[in-house]
Amino acid sequence: MATLPASGFDETSAGILQRIGLFRARVFEADDNDAPFSDSLPKVDPKARRRLLNDISGFLIDHDLDVNPVTLAAAHEACSGLNPAFARSVKQQDDAGEPVTQIWLEEISATDPASENRSLENLATKLERGIEDLSKATKTAREATSEYGDELERRVDHLNSSLDTTGLIASLSDFAKEMLARSRQAEENLRASEQETARLRKNLDRARKDAEVDYLTGLPNRRAFEEALRVEYAQATRKRHPLSVAYCDIDHFKAINDTHGHEAGDRIIRQVADNLSALCGKDCYIARHGGEEFALLFRGVTPEEALELLDNARAELAARRMINRRTDKPFGQVTFSGGIANVVSYADPREALAAADEALYRSKEGGRNQIRLADA
Ligand code: GH3
Ligand code: MG
Ligand code: MG
Repeated sequence: MATLPASGFDETSAGILQRIGLFRARVFEADDNDAPFSDSLPKVDPKARRRLLNDISGFLIDHDLDVNPVTLAAAHEACSGLNPAFARSVKQQDDAGEPVTQIWLEEISATDPASENRSLENLATKLERGIEDLSKATKTAREATSEYGDELERRVDHLNSSLDTTGLIASLSDFAKEMLARSRQAEENLRASEQETARLRKNLDRARKDAEVDYLTGLPNRRAFEEALRVEYAQATRKRHPLSVAYCDIDHFKAINDTHGHEAGDRIIRQVADNLSALCGKDCYIARHGGEEFALLFRGVTPEEALELLDNARAELAARRMINRRTDKPFGQVTFSGGIANVVSYADPREALAAADEALYRSKEGGRNQIRLADA
């Protein structure tokens, strides 16, 4: 009987939380000791601040949440009006009578492009300032050298026409010392600015990479997938190469969560991610598109060929019987359904995505555990 590899069961929820925490800490790292940036924030009137604090504490109490950096950040997002999409998600959850738990908040904010974009914007702004400082430091250094040159020239001219050479040499020597100190200072400022710019650039690169990775599976996320689709679509239409896109969605996944708990559900998502990644060679791009849904882009592969590849992966997973190592309860058969579309036969790659989604819907309607081609 085939089972999930042990590694699929090893990560605790604390581990996941820690990873999310680290992700946030890294994204916001540049804020830590950066007073000039926070100084530039507009001052908020004290009454509005008190109201916001009341709303934030109300949010935490009403949802029975701990007070910690994750929940505070989420409460701020929800109450400050900075992230209407997030506030809407919370409201929907409340309206549906579903709990707003810390895990739920983390999932939502981990895939929330608005908050990622803001962090990136902050870093990009700081990088711009670092570059400005660098150019100011360069200008000062250049000015110092040129002032020194002009003054030196004046004094040397004077030296040529003067008889008091001793006094002039002493003044020239003082002047040279002073200019040396100034240019050393300018050099030091330049070096500090260069270091700061390099640090910010590194943070920005890392944040950009983080913003494109799904925290649960380590796969590229939806944002990265849509960019890959755009690039591949342009290339495939130019070179007249085949390009296929597939959507896969785990069947009856809610029942897995309900029976085994959310953490076990997460491990199943990771397992399916591994299975689908295994079928993905160098000409295939796979991403976690949303909850228990994956998107695959097959470069140079016709929809019929993609169907065969994906159907093999489907059959292989469906043949396994997995057990939950933590509880020894069987997961039973875990299956997924899929839909495939021929990207280049659409005027816009988003239409191909919609067609693949529609084909996926027909697979679900047709009884699940199957892959269908879109009508093109
Ligand atoms: P279907 O066969 O029609 O796809 O049914 P389903 O139960 O898989 O689909 P449905 O959309 O009703 O449920 C998907 C569930 O996936 C709901 C949501 O709570 C859960 N989910 C979404 N993201 C995650 C996640 O990151 N981890 C876990 N454990 N569950 C998630
Ligand atoms: Mg789904
Ligand atoms: Mg599903």
